[in-house]
Amino acid sequence: MSGREENYVKEAFDTNWIAPLGPHVNGFEADLTTYTGAKAAAALSSGTAALHLALILADVGPGDTVICQSMTFAASANPIAYQGAEPVFIDSETETWNMDPQALEDALRELDKKGKRPKAIIPVHLYGMPAKMTEILEIARSYEVPVIEDAAEALGSYYRDQACGALGELSILSFNGNKIITTSGGGALLGNDEELIQRARFLATQARDPAPHYQHSQIGYNYRLSNVLAGIGRGQMEVLDKRVAQRRANFERYRSYFKNWENAGFRVQFQEEPKEVYSNRWLSCILLESEQNHGVSREAVRLALEAENIEARPLWKPMHLQPVFKDALYFGGHTAENLFNTGLCLPSGSNLTETDFDRIFAVLDQIAVSIKA
Ligand SMILES: *Cc1c(COP(=O)(O)O)cnc(C)c1O
Repeated sequence: MSGREENYVKEAFDTNWIAPLGPHVNGFEADLTTYTGAKAAAALSSGTAALHLALILADVGPGDTVICQSMTFAASANPIAYQGAEPVFIDSETETWNMDPQALEDALRELDKKGKRPKAIIPVHLYGMPAKMTEILEIARSYEVPVIEDAAEALGSYYRDQACGALGELSILSFNGNKIITTSGGGALLGNDEELIQRARFLATQARDPAPHYQHSQIGYNYRLSNVLAGIGRGQMEVLDKRVAQRRANFERYRSYFKNWENAGFRVQFQEEPKEVYSNRWLSCILLESEQNHGVSREAVRLALEAENIEARPLWKPMHLQPVFKDALYFGGHTAENLFNTGLCLPSGSNLTETDFDRIFAVLDQIAVSIKA
């Protein structure tokens, strides 16, 4: 928190707007459209809820097919199952670690042969790094399938001067506690079709027909963000660019630290920012193949950090390798699997101090020195 959030929360209390609607909800939605350039936004209770509504708006139902990036957090794929639809997972490419346009095209071609047209394609901007959206959108349009952009990790990232969160037919954001900005829990659905977003707001508030009594012609959901939490969101939006700068500084810190490793014959790889792309660097991640690193594995580094009470985690485990999705179709090779086996998310909080970095680098130094000796 920056301290500015309290003013908004106090205002909500002072005006007694403690409800899933109110001036902060409207204000937060306006902040989001101003920032991203999307025409409309609906503030919701989570990113998962936003994806669920996006699929409902894309008319996804039982037996339908939805294409999804395999290398992601389960929340990207779970709403496909909520709708009784079948996920089809796609491998990553090695540059951005996101949906491989070639594998996407293969999937669409193969599905087309079986007479199946997916209802939606869900690319993800992993750890804040934008996916190859030009290619993905072009392929999606040639098969006339809408793209639902999962920008949960990428608020503050840009793809060719366009903000993430405004790149798909529909886009989602998350303000969960671990994201670059947070409302403790929350999310948003964004798009350029004002009517569609208005429909999302309607579905998110129990689908109440206009009537003096409670009248319902459709199944609704309780997915709206509260006015109190939207107040936190407004305060967070004021410091978003600062948070991005802090995260990017973390990444540069790690990159320059690992130069020492490279000089000692290690080969540590990063998620590279392609030209015309700006990542919020939500998490700083490395790849470490033990064969290229004097036998030092990702797990060895993770465990050495853990022994000093420093949390680091493997990258997301791909969805096509998850027990719950074991029957799903998959297109691609072993890129996502290799990323999972060799990748490590390093401590990446916006509030990392010099002392924190000293502690992290001391553990890493030990590993490098013990190998050289
Ligand atoms: C966090 C996250 C979500 C879900 O957001 P919640 O607000 O936690 O429901 C969806 N997709 C990705 C890639 C995420 O990282």
